[in-house]
Order: sequence, then structure tokens, then C-alpha cells
Amino acid sequence: METLIKPGADPQTLLKNVPRSGSTMLMYIDGKWAEASDGASRTLLDPATGAPIASVAEGTRDDAKRAIAAARTAFDVGPWSTMTAADRARLLFRVADKIEEYGRELQYIDTLNNGKPLRETEYDVADAAGCFRYYAGLATKPHGQTFDVPGPSQSFTVREPIGVCGQIVPWNYPLLMAVWKLAPALAAGNTCILKPSELTPLSALRLATIFEELEFPAGAVNIVTGAGPVVGAELAENHGVDKIAFTGGTKTGRSIMSAAVGNLKKVTLELGGKSPNVVFADADFDTAVDYALFGIYANAGQVCSAGSRLVVQDSIADKFVAAVVERAKKIRVGNGFDPKTEMGPIISRGQLERVEGYLAAGKDEGARLVCGGERLGGALAGGNFIAPTVFDGTNRDMRIVREEIFGPVLVVQRFKDEDDAVSTANDTIYGLAGAVFTQDVAKAHRVIRRLRAGITWINTYHPTYNEAPWGGYKQSGIGRELGTYGYDAYTEVKQINVNLDVAPSGWFEG
Ligand code: NDP
Repeated sequence: METLIKPGADPQTLLKNVPRSGSTMLMYIDGKWAEASDGASRTLLDPATGAPIASVAEGTRDDAKRAIAAARTAFDVGPWSTMTAADRARLLFRVADKIEEYGRELQYIDTLNNGKPLRETEYDVADAAGCFRYYAGLATKPHGQTFDVPGPSQSFTVREPIGVCGQIVPWNYPLLMAVWKLAPALAAGNTCILKPSELTPLSALRLATIFEELEFPAGAVNIVTGAGPVVGAELAENHGVDKIAFTGGTKTGRSIMSAAVGNLKKVTLELGGKSPNVVFADADFDTAVDYALFGIYANAGQVCSAGSRLVVQDSIADKFVAAVVERAKKIRVGNGFDPKTEMGPIISRGQLERVEGYLAAGKDEGARLVCGGERLGGALAGGNFIAPTVFDGTNRDMRIVREEIFGPVLVVQRFKDEDDAVSTANDTIYGLAGAVFTQDVAKAHRVIRRLRAGITWINTYHPTYNEAPWGGYKQSGIGRELGTYGYDAYTEVKQINVNLDVAPSGWFEG
């Protein structure tokens, strides 16, 4: 298989390694490339230009059921579930190598499909390879516990795979979110049906070609494209699925959790956020400004952990907001393929309109718009571009302060002292992430410990590590991904008890 490519490549050249029927790119079910059962397809649009880029099979409930049946066989009969951990690990290391080998191609595919700048997709690809490598290494490391129990017995535990896993991922990190789901699940010996977002399935399909090239057993990994309420809902409802793992909006997460109740699937949810980035007056000013920008404008704010609320101490707030605004205005917004671009488009027309709705709500509710606040026109008019935006003069009741916008919109909240900072930061239904900027080490630790959030940073924003757990408190989700926690979430714990004195118990006398 060939690697490519030139910047701004023609989509048809870029996507040529994914099998098609006519012009429609196919799904990967039971080790074979397949059309949708009813032959339907969906046209994907370039978020930066609005131009069509590809046609992809639009999977049905029947397609999802076929994939579940294939994953069921690969798990119940094998061979994936009967392979040794060392053999699984060997294959997963090779996936990491292949992701790197085809790295440029995967990077360009995500920039084409999602619109995010090349500088971001380069990181995503490196992280994706690192994630497979981390879990390949972990596959042979899990260990159980032994217990000192009374009686002539030995009691111990082993970790075993859960079974067939349905995995539903969003459009904001198309390749990376797919990998975060697949790598730990496969390492632990599960079989998978992954449903990428209907908006961004292309890098997941290219990933499927890697599984095919490495001759993964049929049914171990299935990639089913199609709509959330169709393919995704089938995965959540179907009793042949043992675990459902979802990343996306809190509203959809709720519906998936209720759908999973039928057979009491194990559920992992990584949902939305409205994360506070708390800046104290004694922070390193330039560092804090820099990360305030990175926290909200990376990936155009379409990040679950985005630092969308700048919680800044009164005494420096005017100067701080002015510095953020000055730099926000200079952010180079444009087509992700332009190497100079720092911020790309919003994923779709629907999401663009949703963000515009929040811009209008902010103005209506009386927040002070200090920069951005509008869709970009001119050369960018064909795409879904919003100017980096800052709202000051907010209060805690405003929708722009309470709800996840998922766009490049920063809201400023001011505080007086440490208690006020904590109370402002925690006044949200979400609890995914948060950061504190201060040069007072003790204060940094005190405040971080009081934040009700699962992922926190001191004097930085956004770094994510394959080794460390990722997930939220409150309505930001259930469970953790990444690290050993993410591996454990794809395992069951079995207790094994051995009688060391093999003789009748004598409990019943007759
Ligand atoms: P969703 O949460 O609806 O989509 C995420 C994934 O879930 C997609 O694969 C989607 O499929 C699938 N899905 C949608 N409906 C169902 C369903 N009923 N059953 C099973 N799967 C389903 O996100 P949206 O794209 O609608 O975005 C809405 C908001 O959600 C955003 O504005 C943002 O606030 C939040 N969001 C949060 C993300 C995060 O990382 N925390 C990521 C994405 C969105 P399909 O794409 O085919 O509809």
C-alpha cells in the first residue's frame, strides 16, 4: 500500500486507499468491505469550503447487527479472544508502527474531513500511535490479587475481557477518539464495533485498512459508518453488545445510557464540559494568557475539556482580558491545509448555527462582546468559520456561562478571593476539566483539590497523556479512559477460589 501526499491534496488521491464500490467508500464488517444493506450513502462536505469530499456507505441497523454478530463470533468462538496477550500485543505494536508509516496520510485525511489545522492533526496522529503502543505494552501486564482467606483455600482474581464492545465516537478528534476506544479494548481481548461520527468517518476507515493489512482476525474490529440514531442506537440497544463506550454530547450520552439498560451493558461515557481556567493575580502573566488562548481556541473550541470559562482575579482582570483579546484577534483562522493556519472551521453548518445561536444569546442576555462574535466571510465565506470570541461582563445565570458551546467562544468570570474562585469554578453541572494559574504552590494545590473535575492542570492547559486517566465528575461522564484505568474499564474481574483440602464438606449429614 502506498503512502502519499502533497498539501491540499485532491480528496480522491488522498482517500484512494479506502476500498469503494463505484464512488462510495465502504464499511469494514467481519473482515470484509461492505456497502450499506440498502445501498445508501452519504456525501461528506469539507468544513473549510463546503465542497463535497467523499461519499461513504450509510450503514443501517442491519449492518450494525451483522457487525455485532461478527464481533460475537470472534469473541465467543475466537480467535481474537483465544489469542495470547503476547500475540495481541505483537499485533497492536504493529498497528502503532503502521499509523506512523501512514502518518502523513492520516494527518491529511483528518484535516480534510474535520478542517483542523495540520499542526493539530500531526499531534493527533502521533498520539494515536502512542496510544496503541501504550496499550500493546499493557496487554501483557495486568495482574490480579491474591487473598489470605480463612480455611484451606486459595482465593485470587484475574482480569478478563468484557466481550463485545460498541464504541461511538464524535467528530472533534476523528482518528484519536477511535484509537482511544479501540486500543485498550483490543489489548484486553475484547472485540469491537466502532461507529465514527457520520461527519468524520474517513480516518477510521483508513485505520480499518491497517487492521486488514495486518490480518487481524475477521470480526475482531468492525467499523460501521452511519447515523447516530441508527447505527449508534443499535449498538446501544442490542443485547449482543456487552459494553458501550461513548464520547460526545451529554444529551446523547443520556439517551445511550437509557438504551443500554435492556441488558445492563457496562457503560463508559465521556461527555461535555464547561471547564474553568482559574487565573490568580500572582500567576505568570504571559504564560497564563498563552494558555487561556490555547485552552479555548485549540480545535476552534471543539474540545470536551476546553477552558471555556476564564475565571480571573478582579485585580488583574482588565489587563488580562485586554491581553487575551489582543492576541485572539491575531489568531490566523483559515483552511487547515495552509501551514500558517492556527484555527480551522466549525465542523458542520449545523454546529456553526448552534454556535451562532450562543453568540446571539450572549448579546441578548447582556454580556459584553469584546472580540469576535461573528461568522467570517470574504475568502472564508464558503466554510464554517467563526472569529475567536470573548464575552466579558457575564453573570452565572447566562446560557453562555452555563452551557457547552463547543466553539471558539471564551466567557470571562471575575472573582475576588480563593473561596470565590472555587465557588465560581464549581458552579456548573459539568466536571470534566479545569486549571489553576498561580505561582503560589500551596494555593495551586489547595484550589486544584477543591475543583470538582476529573482532569486538572496547574500552570498549563490541555496536555493529555496516554498514561493518565481521562474522564469527568458530575454530568461530564462515567468512568475513565486512558492509562491503566482505561484498560480496567474493558475488563471484568473474576474471583477464583481453590479448595486446597479436597474432601467432602460434610454440611449435609444424609
Ligand atoms: P453527539 O453527542 O450527538 O455525537 C457524538 C456521537 O454520537 C456521534 O458518533 C453521533 O453519530 C453519535 N450519536 C448521535 N445520536 C446518537 C444516538 N441516539 N445513539 C447513539 N449514538 C448517537 O454530538 P453532536 O454532533 O450532535 O454535537 C452536539 C453537541 O455535543 C456539541 O455541540 C457539543 O456540545 C457536544 N459534543 C461533545 C463532544 C465531546 O467530546 N465531549 C464531542 C461532540 C459533541 P452521528 O455523528 O452519526 O450523529
